[in-house]
Amino acid sequence: MKLRILDYLDDIKEFNGEAISGKLRCTCGNHQFEFFHTGRQTKGILAPYIIRKNKQLILRAKCVCCGEIIDVYNSMIDGTNAKTQEESHDFIPFVIPKIEKDEFEVVIKYNYWIKQFKENGEYSNLFEECFIYIIENGKEGNALIEE
Ligand SMILES: [Zn+2]
Repeated sequence: MKLRILDYLDDIKEFNGEAISGKLRCTCGNHQFEFFHTGRQTKGILAPYIIRKNKQLILRAKCVCCGEIIDVYNSMIDGTNAKTQEESHDFIPFVIPKIEKDEFEVVIKYNYWIKQFKENGEYSNLFEECFIYIIENGKEGNALIEE
């Protein structure tokens, strides 16, 4: 299976044939999203803002322009360690309380074992790690998830 959200990635860069990074982009071309998740939010100090709850995590993005919804990461179907289990439907909006911010641009990075990097010429959904960082002032800021 090709990387599930490949069509939602912009500005893809490849590193050494074993990693890629890209910016999350809606089909309408917009890069700003609200996020919702089924995990637990932390203060984001020495940890990503969102971690698993009951061993599962779905991170969902909603385009602030057209409202399209993208399941960006789902621990039950994505990556080499995907574990199917009962899906949580309790989606919590992600907000950084300090600054009351709830619209974000993000960059997503995938690390692979070289053997699983591509499938039929396309990046595969069998990545080892997925890191999502919030872009702040044009630079990579805190991690939203590190899975
Ligand atoms: Zn959109």
